[in-house]
Amino acid sequence: MEFSVDMPQNGPTILRIAIPSPLRSTFDYTLPEDLRLKLDERQPLPGMRVNVEFGRRIMVGLIVGVSQCSEIARDKLKDISDIIDVSPIVPSDLFELFIWSAYYYQHPIGEALFTALPTLLRKGGPAVAPRIPHWKLTQLGAELDPQILKRAAKQQKLIDVIQQNNGCVAESEVNSLFSSAVRNQLKDKGLIESVLIEQKAKASTDEILNQPSLKLDSQQQIALNAIDLHSFNSYLLEGVTGSGKTEIYLQAIEQALRYERQALVLIPEISLTPQTEKRFRDRFNANIVTLHSKMTDNQRLEAWLQARSGQAKIVLGTRSAIFTPFKNLGLIVMDEEHDSSYKQQDGFRYSARDLAVIRAQRNNIPAILGSATPSLESLNNCNQGRYKHLTLDKRANSAKAPDWSVVDLKTESIECGIANTTLDAIDATLKAKQQVLVFLNRRGFAPTLLCHQCGWTAKCQNCDSKLTVHKARGRLICHHCGYQQRQINQCPSCNSTDLMAAGEGTERSEDFLQQRFPDYPIVRVDRESTRKKGALEAFVATADSGEPCVLVGTQILAKGHHFENVTLVVILDADSGLMSADFRSHERMGQLLTQVAGRSGRGKLSGQVIVQTHQPEHPVLDQLFNQGYRPLAQQLLSQRQQGQLPPFRALAVIRAESSYPKLATDFLSLARQISQQHAVSIVGIDLLGPLPALMEKRSGRYRFILQITSAKRSNLQQLLTEVAGALEKNKKDHKLRWSFDVDPQEL
Ligand code: ADP
Ligand code: ZN
Ligand code: ZN
Repeated sequence: MEFSVDMPQNGPTILRIAIPSPLRSTFDYTLPEDLRLKLDERQPLPGMRVNVEFGRRIMVGLIVGVSQCSEIARDKLKDISDIIDVSPIVPSDLFELFIWSAYYYQHPIGEALFTALPTLLRKGGPAVAPRIPHWKLTQLGAELDPQILKRAAKQQKLIDVIQQNNGCVAESEVNSLFSSAVRNQLKDKGLIESVLIEQKAKASTDEILNQPSLKLDSQQQIALNAIDLHSFNSYLLEGVTGSGKTEIYLQAIEQALRYERQALVLIPEISLTPQTEKRFRDRFNANIVTLHSKMTDNQRLEAWLQARSGQAKIVLGTRSAIFTPFKNLGLIVMDEEHDSSYKQQDGFRYSARDLAVIRAQRNNIPAILGSATPSLESLNNCNQGRYKHLTLDKRANSAKAPDWSVVDLKTESIECGIANTTLDAIDATLKAKQQVLVFLNRRGFAPTLLCHQCGWTAKCQNCDSKLTVHKARGRLICHHCGYQQRQINQCPSCNSTDLMAAGEGTERSEDFLQQRFPDYPIVRVDRESTRKKGALEAFVATADSGEPCVLVGTQILAKGHHFENVTLVVILDADSGLMSADFRSHERMGQLLTQVAGRSGRGKLSGQVIVQTHQPEHPVLDQLFNQGYRPLAQQLLSQRQQGQLPPFRALAVIRAESSYPKLATDFLSLARQISQQHAVSIVGIDLLGPLPALMEKRSGRYRFILQITSAKRSNLQQLLTEVAGALEKNKKDHKLRWSFDVDPQEL
């Protein structure tokens, strides 16, 4: 199946259509004469949407190919039902990237292509700016005598705001500034009315900057000078938090804008980092749009269209913004490039980081990847000469690096996951009227068996790897070689029966802190709590107030936010990250500890970081505290090379999940058989599994994986394509879900 346009000669034109369904194939339809007329001399082209009958439904599809021939007999082919677009909705180079990524990530093409589009376009809506509600002055309101609202200051203020905006303001903006009561009172008086109109793009003037850029220091200047705006290169910009990376992004973007090009800026999280957005808006006198999941469908489409038309000069977005169309893209910036949120973890499992580099390469423009704690993949790309490594090693402001201290949990009495020494430190900090940040490490680490008395952990007999606890089946499993044994109840080293899964025991630490420190606010933030409107603002407001309090949160706290008055950071359960069987766990732990520590002592006060662990002598901690992230990362890279793990070997997994575990394992056994047959003719393929996933049970379903690795990425791709084709032919069972995960972040 290829991406192609053959010019029609005679006979009906065949359109190859991608439909958002789990099927991996495209579907051929014919273009009927009446619809050809609708196209009015224009050719049908890849990237145009059509309506087609599929099963018994009418669905939106995308043209991916135009041809004269089909493998299906003519009389079996249906006509398409309608043409939605008379020109492709994204430029052809971007559409080719969509298709490339569907193949690379082995995802059903229709689902992949539709994932890349804004929701309203997926549903077949018009690719024109949606009309959204605005409040407008009525004639009465425009001619209003200022005396009349003298006693209603808020109402007068709203009238003023609308007047200053040429008599019309978007409803969302009005709602953010005024209560609905104020608005309704004016409406009832007939002074304002609601209308539906297109959002107006802010007009840009010739001057690109609102405020002058900073004078770079010599290191920053060297880094900026190294960035060539006129050709493809990937740059890894490594520098601790506060070393001035963002200033380099801003100045590189300024140059791109001066060449009348646009810039795409990807960040992991927008809602937690309003400062980043503000900094861009303060600097540039240019139309900046944001793209993230908390926007309405209308807002997203609007921003998408402004990028496509070239009206938006800068797009600031999270992962999926990598699929935004541009008129003239000149630069891609990715901040916190190591962040795992850049990899989509379900459905179409693409990596926005890797696509950013591919997209930059196809457009012959630079990609700047920035981080204080670069991923091992990117560091390896620098070592191999594929990326240019730019480093900033000074902090631009004078904030000091934090002091680390380790609390040995073996020798402490613990309550709800918190040691006495730690409680004392929290107490002292609060009494000194400073803030504490308590970090819970809740996500994605597979539990290892650990002895609370002596710190012993369960290791595999055959290899260096830790065994993972699979509680439900009472077994310990090695995810490196597949070895299994029964779970034990007594420590083989000290005979204690005090065995626990690493990371256990912090479930109730928040309640416990509240009981222990009743006089101080304990504020919680995690992905769930931030879904509630206003919750995040309340959290940030408490933190920014500077009043003594305990901020409790998960990974989300490691990102971007500056807490000026936090002087103590507590990592409650370093064990789960230090002792996980996931081969990425040490890398993640190094990144997380460095990032979380960077949250403290950013103001005038210096910060202390307490790390609770049963293994205070763990080499990852030792190396991190004494030498820093970079030497740790290089050490971890050489371990990966010895262990023949990514990025030194290409890895993909086939995932299967079901509430009936046997369905999943049978399916993966079949996948293994098929892979083995194909692997005979493809060199250097290794298979492992089926194994339970590290997180075996989720949402009532049992999850299993088959791991496939190869020294050569192209060999792996070839194998996956063949296996996907064969599995697709297998009878469908709706009790089973399966998918490919290429370059997985989780096992
Ligand atoms: P990072 O993105 O690496 O965290 P920033 O670019 O945000 O670093 O810089 C940290 C702080 O230092 C910011 O307040 C920024 O305004 C300031 N800063 C950065 N570069 C300079 C410079 N060349 N001169 C003066 N201040 C700078
Ligand atoms: Zn023991
Ligand atoms: Zn093993």
